[in-house]
Amino acid sequence: SSGIVIVGGGQAGLQTAISLREEGYDGQLTLIGAEQSVPYQRPPLSKAFLLGAVDETGLQLRPQAFLEKLGIDFVQGAEVVAIDRAGHAVRLADGTRHGYGHLVIATGARNRPLTVAGAERGEVAHLRSIEDARALQKKLADSADIVVIGAGFIGLELAAVAAKLGRRVHVVEAGPRLMARAVSRDCAAFFQSRHESWGTDFSFQAEVAAIEHDADGVTGVRLADGRVLKADLVVAGIGVLPNVELAAEAGLAVDNGILVDEHLVTSDPDISAIGDCAAHPNSFSGGLIRLESVQNAADQARTVAARLAGRPASYQAVPWFWSDQGDSKLQMAGLTAGHDHSVLQGEVADGRFSIFCFKDGRFLGVESVNKPADNMLARRVLAASRALTLADFEACGFDLKTLAG
Ligand code: FAD
Repeated sequence: SSGIVIVGGGQAGLQTAISLREEGYDGQLTLIGAEQSVPYQRPPLSKAFLLGAVDETGLQLRPQAFLEKLGIDFVQGAEVVAIDRAGHAVRLADGTRHGYGHLVIATGARNRPLTVAGAERGEVAHLRSIEDARALQKKLADSADIVVIGAGFIGLELAAVAAKLGRRVHVVEAGPRLMARAVSRDCAAFFQSRHESWGTDFSFQAEVAAIEHDADGVTGVRLADGRVLKADLVVAGIGVLPNVELAAEAGLAVDNGILVDEHLVTSDPDISAIGDCAAHPNSFSGGLIRLESVQNAADQARTVAARLAGRPASYQAVPWFWSDQGDSKLQMAGLTAGHDHSVLQGEVADGRFSIFCFKDGRFLGVESVNKPADNMLARRVLAASRALTLADFEACGFDLKTLAG
């Protein structure tokens, strides 16, 4: 076959199919997804959906009829179990084969399991899929004391929703502060105080020793220091593992993600990999990185679609991300991890400010809280130049408008 097959009907897979048609590709196009639903947005699962403000239809990225109209053959609820590279075909769990001229792997990631004693009973909730969200919504309705393990984006978004629903929430984190890998100290301190104002408690540098149960289910979380936190619902948000096994078993190069070059091609020229499952060279991080964001999934999809339609270009999109926690919207432009200097502009007390991050005097990006215009401008600035320095920002009084030109 000379057609294109996409494995994974998530954000990246669907966008590839849509962009291919937009780019004028009119060949055979097959999108294979393991989940029992049309492609949907994950971000609202830990936000509006859990609060009951959006229903399942509202989560759909595109309705089924739209896929049909574009001539996208969507195979729903089907897992690809093997890639036959020599035969240029993928095999589904039921034995069906789909031949490809080019294969796009967009298999995403899955939750990192919690491996402490008591967790094997399967009562610890996780959140990745619509199915997880349905189950969590039910459990939330019936619980009073919630322990969230992990103070990353998803854990904190969940904590904010649960607090808003009137639940008592305790967040347990192994690191010294919340969102430690992702945001600056000032930003983390601000979010901690917001969560505390909603009644949420935190334990940092806390190791979970066991999940405790009685005959009716979960009763608490035991920490290594001996404390037991009462809980009738325990949710773990301790990161994800990229879905690379399919690629690895087919002999593709893999290392914390399916390895791709700047064109998002794997070690097999007839196979691309994109989104949460792919480790790519990124000029903003200055090395190989695996990003977990809607921006990265969608922009990598567009890059691959353009190449397959005859317009090859390397992946150069400006990274951006957001996280909504209660009334506070965090937005990030650029990759600020590893910064050694930061400058805060605006008023922390008003909950509206931006933090400009630098490394060795070089501008990395901006974290904004409730300042969407700063995020938009910072993205424009980063798209125009990678070479701005602290001196450039000082010269204009950190005025992004001036720098955006
Ligand atoms: P996925 O969306 O995970 O899609 C991969 C799909 O492939 C899945 O449906 C999976 O079932 C399928 N699949 C896997 N293996 C196979 C196989 N062998 N055969 C067939 N199908 C297969 N990002 C942001 O930028 N902002 C946010 O606020 C934000 N909030 C989030 C909140 C939650 C609760 C979650 C879970 C994620 C959030 N993200 C957010 C991250 C964002 O959703 C992901 O980065 C994005 O979905 C990645 O898209 P993807 O297509 O690479 O992977």
